[in-house]
Amino acid sequence: MIGVKDLRKSYGESEVLKGIDVTIKKGEVVVIIGPSGSGKSTFLRCLNLLEIPTGGHIFVNEQDITSKDVNIDKIREKMGMVFQQFNLFPHKTVCQNICHAPIRVKGMKAVEAKELASGLLKKVGLLEKIDVYPSSLSGGQQQRIAIARALAMQPEVMLFDEPTSALDPEMVGEVLAVMKDLAKEGMTMVVVTHEMGFAKEVGDRILFIDQGKIMEENNPKDFFENPQHPRTIDFLSKVL
Ligand code: ADP
Ligand code: MG
Repeated sequence: MIGVKDLRKSYGESEVLKGIDVTIKKGEVVVIIGPSGSGKSTFLRCLNLLEIPTGGHIFVNEQDITSKDVNIDKIREKMGMVFQQFNLFPHKTVCQNICHAPIRVKGMKAVEAKELASGLLKKVGLLEKIDVYPSSLSGGQQQRIAIARALAMQPEVMLFDEPTSALDPEMVGEVLAVMKDLAKEGMTMVVVTHEMGFAKEVGDRILFIDQGKIMEENNPKDFFENPQHPRTIDFLSKVL
């Protein structure tokens, strides 16, 4: 579904992604781990063209999205993104947050969008919050709304960039549970996280990124039980 070939990204003189090659199959959950500053966020942001790559190619369903004539908005519609900071619109209710893009981008009717929002809120366990404002919600609840909002565009892939890193510890579980449900339903997911339990349990494949390169890649069992690269071993010794 996604093919990344020799992806490079530089900011000025400094090359942050130094040739990333990876393929992601439909329905696969790929977990990305690695030290701070290694290029994980940059990689995710290149996937949905929030950052424009400076080299290489990204194919989504065989379409090269790095080619000049591509419609960036159409590509982004296919990819839901959830960030560390939930970025909900503070002056909109939960319902309005979720309905915004389907109405504005897809031209969905308000009634229809509200129905969609209700369904998604049920899925993330927050239907009773449909008419409140984000400020009245906990961090974990806000992040679950952010996930519902991303799902409202019916994306083909969900990209998560450290979705639980800004949360108080007691709220991490509820967000991971929603993500786990999504994975079970067959959603294609790319997840940057420091939650090693989630990586082991839900990931189909783990990528370890360091200094702008994929240093190691394996299924969770072999990755965690038998890491090969010295940098992976060193990283795991610090986080496990
Ligand atoms: P990670 O998510 O793994 O912590 P990032 O992808 O955020 O890493 O950042 C990788 C490197 O790129 C860091 O050194 C960071 O300072 C740099 N970087 C990220 N975004 C920008 C930017 N917009 N301009 C310049 N440098 C950036
Ligand atoms: Mg990051």
